[in-house]
Amino acid sequence: MVSVSCNQKDPENNTASAAFEAYEKRFIEQYFALFPGTALYAGDHRFDDRMLIPDADYVREVVSFCEQNLDSLEQFTDASLNDNLRIDRWMMRDQLNLVRWSYTEFHSLEWNPSAWNIAGDCAEIINGRYAPLEIRLRSLNSRLKNAVRYYEAARKSIVKPTREHTDLAILQHDGAADEVFGKSLLDSLTASGLSEEEKVELKDRIIEANAAMKSYSVWLKDLRKGFNDQNTRSFRIGKTLYDKKFEYEIVSGYTAEEIYNYALERRKVIHHEMAALSRQLWPKYFPEKVMPSDSLILIRKMIDTLSVQHVAPDSFLVAIERQIPELEKFVADKNLIYLDPTKPLKVRKTPAYMEGSGAGASISSPGPFDKNANTYYNVSPLNGYSPEEAESYLREYNSYILQILNIHEAVPGHYTQLVYSNNSPSLIKSIFGNGAMVEGWAVYGERMMLENGYGGNQPEMWLMYYKWHLRTVCNTILDYSVHVLNIQEEEAKKLLIDGAFQQKAEADGKWTRVKLSQVQLCSYFTGYSEIYALRNELQQKAGSQFNLKKFHEEFLSYGSAPVKYIRDLMLKVTQ
Ligand code: ZN
Ligand code: ZN
Repeated sequence: MVSVSCNQKDPENNTASAAFEAYEKRFIEQYFALFPGTALYAGDHRFDDRMLIPDADYVREVVSFCEQNLDSLEQFTDASLNDNLRIDRWMMRDQLNLVRWSYTEFHSLEWNPSAWNIAGDCAEIINGRYAPLEIRLRSLNSRLKNAVRYYEAARKSIVKPTREHTDLAILQHDGAADEVFGKSLLDSLTASGLSEEEKVELKDRIIEANAAMKSYSVWLKDLRKGFNDQNTRSFRIGKTLYDKKFEYEIVSGYTAEEIYNYALERRKVIHHEMAALSRQLWPKYFPEKVMPSDSLILIRKMIDTLSVQHVAPDSFLVAIERQIPELEKFVADKNLIYLDPTKPLKVRKTPAYMEGSGAGASISSPGPFDKNANTYYNVSPLNGYSPEEAESYLREYNSYILQILNIHEAVPGHYTQLVYSNNSPSLIKSIFGNGAMVEGWAVYGERMMLENGYGGNQPEMWLMYYKWHLRTVCNTILDYSVHVLNIQEEEAKKLLIDGAFQQKAEADGKWTRVKLSQVQLCSYFTGYSEIYALRNELQQKAGSQFNLKKFHEEFLSYGSAPVKYIRDLMLKVTQ
């Protein structure tokens, strides 16, 4: 295979690379000052005390920042930079294009009332463990000075919102006002070491912020009463905006339409494979019964039969915890990728402030400024579920799917990728990490593990894997079909229930999500397809010399960069 190291320095070009590094540092400073939320989530807390108001002046400032820096980036050339900085330069360019396009063409601040919300960043500061409470409360105090003006700007900016994003904003503001700016914050303020004056001042601001959120929600409810077809717009963004959003956000070698067509093709192949596996399994589970002739009915029956095998409700978390070392052992035994033993993954119950995002399992990773902090695998226990809800959830995350979920979230999926990403020296790649690459890697890992014999090549495991994978494929088909091809609710749900063997509740949830987001649902399948294609390409080139472990380690060494850029460097292509 082509051998490169992304960190190597070309001695002749050290001066250009040093100049670029200095420029990059200034760029990040300025970017953080304009987007304090990005700084906060990256773990740089110097701008925590700022709440910026995205009014016309601010937008002008952002657009001019983008244009100046797009010019500055042109002053550097690929040839003068080492591999690592070369990708940084491409990613900075993409980010600036995305930001400029968002403010000048996409305009979500005008039609998406939920794009306005002060609670998320504030909750991050309130719940943060990065500094003593008093310091965080002082940042909050200074930030909340702008809360009232922030929502005044929102009311001024919103024209022709969508009904769906209006409802979401109402729901989120009603929920978060008391949750974030309510009793528990006031209690921790009282117990804090702030001076009496500071306490009085911040208490007023918290009450004011709470009221500002609630009155925004009241204003939206009034607005909603007068909604008609003239003063609202469709949640479907249409082909022109969709293509651009896909281009800037996914940053793929495929266009949106190409990945949609590829997903249609994949769906056919997967249905075919699932039918073959189901025919193979049928006699084992139903020796006395006649096999259904309709293959979709046959597949569903087999899936339902296998889903009954699941862990008990109270051992969900323990089962996950027990499985991580098993996955690590398999990866080591099969020589699939090196796992750094000094960065262990800690499985924990999802902390209360992160609950309610709907995800049953997620990875919390340390940011680029806090690389040595723990990585957590958050699992929501099923305590609040009724017995029926728990049973339905456990059937979905049955014994087979639970293993695939752990591969995706933990080993060798998200957690493993994050450890490698934190070893990559680039702040740019951490801050502007490419979602399609990150999700694509986790999805790629699922198939790669099975291909290498995980699950002992049982047809049961493969059938359940395909069911899980089909969700990724159908997310892409759904997103494009809804936003570009205008398919209606009934057809969309049919696609998920009949075409991807989902339960009605899951399809309902997905329909809600597809109306509120655009493009993101394609990231999983697009990233996966590109990684898989890259592996095949390198494998063909190297023939018997191909080393899977080396491919994985090298691929991840570039950090969370778009797959097409990693490909360019692994194949030594210049742009
Ligand atoms: Zn059961
Ligand atoms: Zn994921």
